[in-house]
Amino acid sequence: MAQADRVAVVGAGTMGNGIAHVFAQYGYDVVLIDIAKDRLTAALETIARNLERQVKKGVVTPEVRAAALERIRTATETDAAAGAGLVIEAVPEDPLLKADVIRALDVAVDGGILASNTSSISITQLARLTRRPDRFIGMHFMNPVPVMKLVEVIRGLQTSDETAAAVMEIARRLDKTPVEVKDSPGFVSNRVLMPMIKEAIVCRMEGVAGPEEIESVMKLGMNQPIGPLALADLIGLDTCLAILEVLHRELGEDKYRPCPLLRTYVAAGWLGRKTGRGFYPY
Ligand code: NAD
Repeated sequence: MAQADRVAVVGAGTMGNGIAHVFAQYGYDVVLIDIAKDRLTAALETIARNLERQVKKGVVTPEVRAAALERIRTATETDAAAGAGLVIEAVPEDPLLKADVIRALDVAVDGGILASNTSSISITQLARLTRRPDRFIGMHFMNPVPVMKLVEVIRGLQTSDETAAAVMEIARRLDKTPVEVKDSPGFVSNRVLMPMIKEAIVCRMEGVAGPEEIESVMKLGMNQPIGPLALADLIGLDTCLAILEVLHRELGEDKYRPCPLLRTYVAAGWLGRKTGRGFYPY
C-alpha cells in the first residue's frame, strides 16, 4: 500500500540528492535509489555536507539535520520504491533510459503518484508508458534543490485534478512555490533559459569575449546572480545538451540547435561541476 509520508527518489545525481535532502528535511521517509553504489555514497555525503551548511546558516537546527539523515535509506533496485506514496525519477535526460525506468517503477509501485523531474521531455508521452497516466505528473525541481524556491509542475494530458492538487500541496509542504505550466518541450524554464546558455557558449566559441567577460556582462548588466557559463556547469553540460536536443527536435527551430563547442566538451567528459571540469575548473 502506498504511504503518503514515504517518498522514493530514483537517480542520486545532482538533482536526486537535493530532492531526497528536501523531503527528508521536511519529515518524509525517503528511499534514494541509484544503479551506481558510488553515486549513493557520494549523494549521502553531499546531503550531510549541505545540511551542515544549513545548520551553520541557521536555516535548520542540528536536530533537524540529524533526523533528516536518519530518514534517508538507499537502494540499488527500483523495487525498493514499493510502498511510496510519491516516486520521483531523476535519472539522466535520455528518453529511452527514462522510459525503461518509468516502466519498471510502474510495475514496482502499487498505487502512489509517479513524477518525473525531466527538464524537457513530454510528460504526456512518459505518462503513456504507465498504467496510471492519471497519476503521472512532472515535478521539476530547480538546482540546487535545497535553495531554490520554484517547482515547475507539469500536467500531462491525462493527469487528474487530484494528482495535480496533491503535488502542488506537497511542494508547498516543502516550503517551495509550485507553478503550474502546460506540457510543452522544455516547459517554461528551459525553453527560456537554454537559448540564453547556448548563445553564451556561441559567444565563447566565436571569441566575442572571454568567459569572465561574458559572465560579467550578464551578472552586472542583467542582474543575474550567476553567469550563464557557470550556470551551465552547475546544471551539467550533458544535461544542457540533452535538453537542447529535445527542444531542437520537438520545436524545430535553429535557435535550439546545440553548438559544436558544447558537443566537444561533452564528448571530452567535461560535464561541469560534477566531473570537476566544464567551462571552469572545479
Ligand atoms: P546526473 O547525471 O547528475 O544524475 C543522474 C543519476 O541517475 C546518476 O547518479 C546515475 O547513476 C543515475 N542513473 C542512471 N541510470 C539509472 C537507472 N536506470 N536507475 C537508477 N539510477 C540511474 O543527472 P541530474 O543532473 O541529476 O539530472 C536528472 C534529471 O533531472 C534529468 O532529467 C535532468 O534533465 C533533470 N534536471 C536537472 C537539473 C540540473 O540542473 N542538473 C535541473 C532540473 C532538472
